[in-house]
Amino acid sequence: MKLKIAVIPGDGIGPEVVAATLPVLHAAARAEGAELDVLDLDWGGEHHLRTGAPMPADAAEIVSDRAAVLFGAVGRPDVPDHELVWGLIIALRQQLDLAVNLRPVRSWDGVTTALRDDRDIDLLIVRENTEGEYAGVGGRVHRGRPGELGVEVAVHSRPVIERAAHHAFRAAQARSGRLALVTKSNAMRFGYTLWDAVVEEIAVSYPDVECEHVLVDAMAARMIQKPRGLDVLLCSNLFGDILSDLAAVLAGGMGMAPSANVAPGRAPGIYEPVHGSAPDIVGRGVANPVACMLSGAMLLEDSGLPNAAARVRDAIADALRDPANHTPDIGGSGTTTRLAEAVLGGVG
Ligand code: ATP
Ligand code: MG
Repeated sequence: MKLKIAVIPGDGIGPEVVAATLPVLHAAARAEGAELDVLDLDWGGEHHLRTGAPMPADAAEIVSDRAAVLFGAVGRPDVPDHELVWGLIIALRQQLDLAVNLRPVRSWDGVTTALRDDRDIDLLIVRENTEGEYAGVGGRVHRGRPGELGVEVAVHSRPVIERAAHHAFRAAQARSGRLALVTKSNAMRFGYTLWDAVVEEIAVSYPDVECEHVLVDAMAARMIQKPRGLDVLLCSNLFGDILSDLAAVLAGGMGMAPSANVAPGRAPGIYEPVHGSAPDIVGRGVANPVACMLSGAMLLEDSGLPNAAARVRDAIADALRDPANHTPDIGGSGTTTRLAEAVLGGVG
């Protein structure tokens, strides 16, 4: 089998973690009798300085025949953040209609977490990726005047909630069969009550999934006090954004958190570490490549190579058991290269 993917290393530590990840993905695929065919795309900050845009106008078309896209990060000090974030990653998510954002978080043997005792976290945040509080609806009124207003309208639509909910229920079936819908429907009476109603309707078709409704404030407390037992969390755009950073830090930090942006049932998705370009550590050889490698494992899994994905995850777990392989963000003094070589050696 030949798996065609596209790779956008981007800026900052993006190219460093992608360079550490690709050999691991190649080796894992090869061990399962598959070959990766990689289209390398030089999109990002440098492309923006050269051409005035971070990616070409026909970007979505260029990646459309690929099974998936692996993305590093964008952001550099001499280009305004929004040019790159909106011009590349958000534009690409919209053009490919990637409506669901998946953020699995788990704790790893050998990696100390921010939790006091209950260290077992293994959950999946399914975040609606296109609307809610980030719909971009609103405006500023009476600019610069004493009564100035900033109005931000949250938009929640039934088809988009349904799409995210079906994805979450199916994910729960493949995991431990528990789903928590996270809302704030006691205080926000229109959008989140629609979430409650739609999810209740859909739950009927998934009798094997145990579904509870949890308010976001209670969920934040529970993730810290008693994360054990949480499985799939279905969240709106804003709550998913906040809770996934919280979960990532609880389980070892931003350097450990992978994600996938997918259009349920369709390719290609974009697989990327949750972290950004991390300009403070660029070029020092200490970026943690695990978030990117785990994103690569999600890519392999969704592209029909679940055994190759398992190889990557197992090799990461083995490498992390030895503190000498830990990068500084998880309390060690190891380098990107050392950790990458340890994982590569374990992939087989
Ligand atoms: P961006 O604007 O691109 O989001 P940022 O400055 O917000 O970049 P992030 O990458 O989001 O930086 O992460 C915040 C901080 O976390 C970084 O400055 C860095 O110190 C640390 N960090 C993030 N990712 C990693 C990683 N993979 N390895 C080690 N440290 C990391
Ligand atoms: Mg950031």
